[in-house]
Amino acid sequence: MKVLKFGGTSVGSVENMSNVKKIINDGAKKVVVLSAMSGTTNQLVAIAQDIKAGKAQDAVEKVNQLHEKYKVTIDELLNDTALNTAVKAYVSEVFAFLGDCTSKSFLETLENQIVAQGELLSTYMFNAYLNQEGVSSALLPALDFMRIDENKEPDINYIKENFKRVFDNTPDSQIYITQGFICLDAEGEISNLQRGGSDYTATIIGAAFIAEEVQIWTDIDGMHNNDPRHVEGTHPISNLSFDEAAELAYFGAKILHPQTVTPVRVDNIPVRLKNTMEPSAHGTLISNLTSGDGIKAIAAKDGITAIKIKSARMLQAHGFLKKVFEIFETYKTSIDMITTSEVAVSLTIDDDKNLEAILAELEKIAIIEVDKNQSIVCLVGHEVVNHDDTFKLFQILQDVKIRMISYGGSQNNISLLIDSEDKINTLQKLNDYLFELVTP
Ligand code: ASP
Ligand code: MG
Repeated sequence: MKVLKFGGTSVGSVENMSNVKKIINDGAKKVVVLSAMSGTTNQLVAIAQDIKAGKAQDAVEKVNQLHEKYKVTIDELLNDTALNTAVKAYVSEVFAFLGDCTSKSFLETLENQIVAQGELLSTYMFNAYLNQEGVSSALLPALDFMRIDENKEPDINYIKENFKRVFDNTPDSQIYITQGFICLDAEGEISNLQRGGSDYTATIIGAAFIAEEVQIWTDIDGMHNNDPRHVEGTHPISNLSFDEAAELAYFGAKILHPQTVTPVRVDNIPVRLKNTMEPSAHGTLISNLTSGDGIKAIAAKDGITAIKIKSARMLQAHGFLKKVFEIFETYKTSIDMITTSEVAVSLTIDDDKNLEAILAELEKIAIIEVDKNQSIVCLVGHEVVNHDDTFKLFQILQDVKIRMISYGGSQNNISLLIDSEDKINTLQKLNDYLFELVTP
């Protein structure tokens, strides 16, 4: 059995939902993971932010607007009167709940409950639509089996056991629909797998029952060799290894949640990236096969903060780095890039939630410089660090100020830290020289 995940755009309009129906209705049993309809999660986050900011009236307006939008979509989607009425009743309950939330005081748990509604709505509507169209389908409620632990990692044993239980107790169907993104936390409260987390749901479920394949259906034909939003003439990469895909997803290729391949690589379950708008396109196949050496793809990740930690005490001393890392560990902040010299260490983080507290601790042991608005540009390819052309990077980028470079941390990745304002220029230059074969 395969797991197929469809993103927000794929379920974002009645026309696209009908495309999804065609794709999944091929007679084979499958699990279908759905995101919220496009725009919904952003809107739910905005509602939670209004509540946090004490703007209850703005929140109420947003809830009402969104409800109207759903009513229109349901009328377009469901012409079966009984199903139309039943789905509207469910949707009204959801919006009544959201309405109640607007008068509550803000808590993270409240926000999590609010943002979870998007996937509950889309799956309920889509399941009813399949029933109307005569396709046998059933809902597998994600909150009955999907759970994260204290470290916000999927609790894979719990998920395996409970997915099986829920699946076995569900009437035999062709399509089993479940919600992406949402889960319970270690305390049993509603939580989520972070923005874009439906991809992660799909591979976690894939790993839970050792699926034959996981497919991630979006609105682009696979992972591109550079960022199509900034560079013209990019093309989809037909094959990536798990390592290459993990590096690309982590360092910025927006198409995948950063953790997507983690659950499936041990069991070598292939992940195929496909385009709902163009189902016959090959897309990208992520598997344990490696193909071709040299730079295969470039991605960039914004919103990076660089921290330079200088201390004369580092000179020929041991234990300094341990102290530095312990501070980041205390604030559960992970470090992405790191370079060291005799008297300084520079590192980057992408989550600056606890930056002030971290800096206060670091200042006790060293002199600190902080630069915000940095971007990591990541070059990925099998054995890229050993490739003959890699030396050209410095020639190509001679007029770009490179703040840090990470080379050899893995064989498949070279990362550069630059000012975000230089990002588009850097991506374009790299594209011209590396993929268009212009000789520097
Ligand atoms: N709906 C969630 C989001 O917009 C999860 C997802 O779409 O993957 O982030
Ligand atoms: Mg996504």
